[in-house]
Amino acid sequence: MTESSRQGRLFVVSGPSGVGKGTLVAEALKKLPHLRRAVTYTTRPPRKSERDGQDYHFVSVERFERLKDEGMFLEWAEVYGNFYGSPKYDVERLRLDGNDVVLVLDVKGALAVKRQCPDAKLVFIEPPSLGELRQRLKERGTDPPDVIARRLAKAQWEMEQALHFDHRVLNDTLENAVNKLVGLMQRPDGGDGCECHA
Ligand code: ADP
Repeated sequence: MTESSRQGRLFVVSGPSGVGKGTLVAEALKKLPHLRRAVTYTTRPPRKSERDGQDYHFVSVERFERLKDEGMFLEWAEVYGNFYGSPKYDVERLRLDGNDVVLVLDVKGALAVKRQCPDAKLVFIEPPSLGELRQRLKERGTDPPDVIARRLAKAQWEMEQALHFDHRVLNDTLENAVNKLVGLMQRPDGGDGCECHA
């Protein structure tokens, strides 16, 4: 297969909220020219630092329902009253163009993508400890204490799911974690593109 006809791989980066998924993927995108991020749709309101079309596509519930009914999502979920969906056709188009694609998803979403696309590579980002995760959520400053408590309660179950993932990356120092993530996303010689069944 020539480089131009090679279908890209699909990576799903997941792990508990606040573990550093967004931060690590932003760094990986800077270092890997063949890597593109497929942007998730959500009905939740943007945080101050988030930009539409870059962090998420922020849409109304009505628009989300329409996209869902039209079969536009690889997987979708409702989390605490907000909807999230991974764009099936963006992923396909980017991969057919020869790019590797990364989706940043919660743990349930990642496992759902694996069911649709068994060759997707699931990457679990692990915190050094639950205490450190709490600290990062606090320092991020985007959630009130009750939301942080809810995220931490969910993190325990999420961390138990790490065994279903293809790779684990400990996010201790940013530098170590970026190197590990980039290392496993670097292209092997020759292609190993995969197919989704969705
Ligand atoms: P997620 O996307 O998993 O919810 P974020 O990327 O928003 O997590 O990171 C959560 C917070 O933790 C952010 O404030 C980020 O700057 C910080 N963070 C990420 N990685 C590290 C690290 N290795 N050491 C310390 N803080 C980190």
